[in-house]
Amino acid sequence: MSGRLDGRPVVPSSGRLRPLGIGEVEITGGFWSERQDVNSSATIAHCHDWMERLGWVGNFRAAQEGRLPQDRSGVVFTDSDVYKLMEAAAWETGRSGSTDADERFTALAEVIAPVQESDGYLNTFFGRSGQPARYSDLEWGHELYCYGHMLQAAIARARTGKADLFVEVAKRAADHVCEAFGQGGIERVGGHPEIELGLVELARLTGEERYLHQATLFVDRRGHQTLADIHWGRSYFQDDIPVREATVFTGHSVRALYLAAGAVDVAVETGDELLLESIIGQWERTIARRTYLTGGMGSHHDGEKFGDDFVLPPDRAYSETCAGVASVMLSWRLLLATGDSRFADLAERTLFNVVATSPAPDGRAFFYANPLHQRVSGVVPSPDTVSNRASSSLREPWFAVSCCPTNIARTFASLGAYMATVDGAGLQIHQYANSRISASLDDGRPVGVELTTGYPHDGKVSIRITETDVAPWSLTVRVPEWASDAWLTDGGERRRVGPGAASVQRPFVVGDQIELELPMAPRWTVPDSRIDSIRGCVAVEQGPLVLCVESVDLPDGRDVGSVLVDPGQDLDETEGKVVAAGRLVEIEDRRWPYIASDGPATGADISVPLVPYQGWANRGPSTMRVWLPTIEPD
Ligand SMILES: [Zn+2]
Repeated sequence: MSGRLDGRPVVPSSGRLRPLGIGEVEITGGFWSERQDVNSSATIAHCHDWMERLGWVGNFRAAQEGRLPQDRSGVVFTDSDVYKLMEAAAWETGRSGSTDADERFTALAEVIAPVQESDGYLNTFFGRSGQPARYSDLEWGHELYCYGHMLQAAIARARTGKADLFVEVAKRAADHVCEAFGQGGIERVGGHPEIELGLVELARLTGEERYLHQATLFVDRRGHQTLADIHWGRSYFQDDIPVREATVFTGHSVRALYLAAGAVDVAVETGDELLLESIIGQWERTIARRTYLTGGMGSHHDGEKFGDDFVLPPDRAYSETCAGVASVMLSWRLLLATGDSRFADLAERTLFNVVATSPAPDGRAFFYANPLHQRVSGVVPSPDTVSNRASSSLREPWFAVSCCPTNIARTFASLGAYMATVDGAGLQIHQYANSRISASLDDGRPVGVELTTGYPHDGKVSIRITETDVAPWSLTVRVPEWASDAWLTDGGERRRVGPGAASVQRPFVVGDQIELELPMAPRWTVPDSRIDSIRGCVAVEQGPLVLCVESVDLPDGRDVGSVLVDPGQDLDETEGKVVAAGRLVEIEDRRWPYIASDGPATGADISVPLVPYQGWANRGPSTMRVWLPTIEPD
């Protein structure tokens, strides 16, 4: 096993682009750096504290001491949250050298390792006297899902230079899975995909083909109805039709997206181009018809599911934080496989408007669901209370099902690994943040750059060459799909660049400066008229940020339900805030609302302030909406 520090969550053996890891891309300041710092100083400890307090770590101690099942706490898959915390701690140790994160990882590994049984099985909910038998509930038991997160934690540990105890635990668990679920074993799948991408990555880490083979079996088996028909149907866990025959993502959003990410991994490692094309096709239709403006996915609270095409209600948006994380994971894999910048476009949209929306500024409270319209002001939650509901109206400190906070923690700790890639010809920068990149091209030539930017609030990105040899190479930047008026300056030459990839190819010398200018004027966005729930509304975006109206910015305590805007007038910016011309209408409580006898409201008479959606509810209880009804001009 390699103990080399490369710090990459995903290391395909082939593909259009080669990922750079957290050892090669350092985020040095600004928007994402602040979130990484809060993650390091607050969120990781916050998650660990809650899991100790609620007994989720204690479940492993109870297992060691023979106190299960009577002393078991939490839902069936709490083991997975401990593993996701460990993955976050591993990346954080690699990213910042945090001894706190390192000690947390080691302490957790020491609690967990003795619980592993002699054949590699490890789970606190199943298999003991008084507990359900192993693999007796593949629909809901989540044993394979928990292993998937265990493998990802171990991979993070190994790829940050510490191939220690826990990596051996994970290998033994993976060997057990291959034994139990291989040909002639239990020829079924788990109800929640996740094991697939863990197994492929372990195969990449160790060179052991059997892990890849097992992941391929799981992907091929899904869709053949080996799971029971449940209340939501087998599409809930993507077991209704074979993966390669599906045409769009369906069912539980996080399940669908983890499965797609694992299927891309399998396709890339086995050279299965048809499988890869199928996933790309499913992604395309999902983007065209089943994705929110924020990049959020999953429009049904019931079943945490994708809706049918164009079912995207803003107020009932589920848009789970974990689905945002899973979507970024999928986008990254598709970007590496194809080099197509539209995958990085979606990753950017989702990172800024779903992933960054979830945590509070102090990193100690989270949104689970991310609706685009809050009709009722929330109640400030107690910092000591566990929320039983995913649909909180303000960020909550913890949840009975708490998949989202640890998903945020592991994503922020490893975020540097989602920013840039290399290939034989040069360096590609996909996401913009103050950062230092130092890497080698495929042929070993050194390349290095330093990015300076105020992104996402400022569209200017300065890139200074810090390492190069004398031979030419290409520096490629992504021009986002929304950037209709972007400019690239190299030396004295300034040229207009369209959305997609823009490159400078030449011999560089250290100190050379390239500048990208992305348009940051606020802009009106109009939805496809087939999205019934927002027909007739408009939204405002600025750069990569989706904006919203919040009631705390409206006069006289008015609710966002009274706001109309005039998209015929230009958006303005005053005192750092975007404003739209608009009007506040009286809401008559006693009138039948379907008579248009008064005609449409006309005439803007106020300025409606708009703020970034990702920061909504940070100023306390508020109503909020992204999609705004319109008024007729005078
Ligand atoms: Zn979640």
